[in-house]
Amino acid sequence: MIPYGRQNISVEDIDAVTAVLNSDYLTQGPQVPLFEKNICAVTKAKYAVAANSATSMLHVACLALGVGEGDSVWTSPITFVASANCALYCGASIDFVDVEPSTGNMCAQALEKKLQQAKINNSLPKVLIPVHMAGHSCDMKAIGSLAHSYGVKVIEDASHGIGGSYGGSKIGACQYSDITIFSFHPVKIITTAEGGVATTNDISLFESMAQFRSHGIIRNRELMLRPDEGDWYYEQHTLGFNYRMTDLHAALGNSQIKRLDNFILQRNKLAKSYQNALADLGLTCVTPLINSHSAYHLMIVQLPHHIVRKDIFNAMRAKDISVHVHYFPVHLQPYYLQKGFAENDFPNAECFYQHCLTLPLYPDLKEEDQNFIISTLRGLLT
Ligand SMILES: *Cc1c(COP(=O)(O)O)cnc(C)c1O
Repeated sequence: MIPYGRQNISVEDIDAVTAVLNSDYLTQGPQVPLFEKNICAVTKAKYAVAANSATSMLHVACLALGVGEGDSVWTSPITFVASANCALYCGASIDFVDVEPSTGNMCAQALEKKLQQAKINNSLPKVLIPVHMAGHSCDMKAIGSLAHSYGVKVIEDASHGIGGSYGGSKIGACQYSDITIFSFHPVKIITTAEGGVATTNDISLFESMAQFRSHGIIRNRELMLRPDEGDWYYEQHTLGFNYRMTDLHAALGNSQIKRLDNFILQRNKLAKSYQNALADLGLTCVTPLINSHSAYHLMIVQLPHHIVRKDIFNAMRAKDISVHVHYFPVHLQPYYLQKGFAENDFPNAECFYQHCLTLPLYPDLKEEDQNFIISTLRGLLT
């Protein structure tokens, strides 16, 4: 079976994790702060907070921005459910902004219309969470300046995007946002098995996220109610969680991140080969904006509308090619239908979903396997 995505694990990765097992600290040792430092180096953000998943950091990022009951958060309907769930964890409500048909990314025009209407209704969101689908950056200049002009905070869900860039700056640099989130699940660009990180340039958001990640506890004496209690003493200032990353996971990340540029080079090469080979098949490859460089997490194509996607999907799977679909629109999940969302609420997203197909893409995808994927798809479409 050719998977749709797969991690790349080297001997160095295994040695790095084993070294932690033989060390004094399995958690809260030197590896997590080092990983955070490496994330800052890669993204050019000032601060990074690592956690046990991107989902945890989406939750913590919302909390740090003050999201709570009575607030609303907007995200994209074409995403993994975690991008929306984080608002509900905080007791806020969720709404969606429709996507551009070509990229599946949040549409700046749709956002502008929705913000204008929300201002009239006095129902502006507190936070906006655009998602960089497939690693292709949203039009952050447009989205960020709209959000800014309406006083809305921005969290970039860049779970797919580490190593990519937009308008000359790295994704994660937070040029047009308050916080950026990355995921290190094994199918993503680099992995820590489970893991995620938030980047920001705002020291108070950084401190708040670090606090929520670890029980709401602080160890900075200057901020304590009882600074002279003693060296054993820590203080809990808010209701936080145990969302910490372990040193085992961080060591894997520290080893993986050395190959980040290589992974992205490889992914872009393979994506280019797909684009060239599929150009005459009447389908559309989902591609990044011109002023950006994508991490290329996913190779998504839009099939011609007369083609039944399920037939192609099943036929590819029957040939042991593990194609996939990203994503079923979040607002149509049974849980979200219960919240009042309905079909046709976000027509571009629903159309994007109806015709999209994800082809296998990962750094170790062999040329012969890619050729087999291409010839199989060609056979089915012609
Ligand atoms: C993978 C993913 C997440 C969640 O990441 P975890 O690290 O698995 O919690 C959130 N948003 C998007 C868009 C994702 O692809």
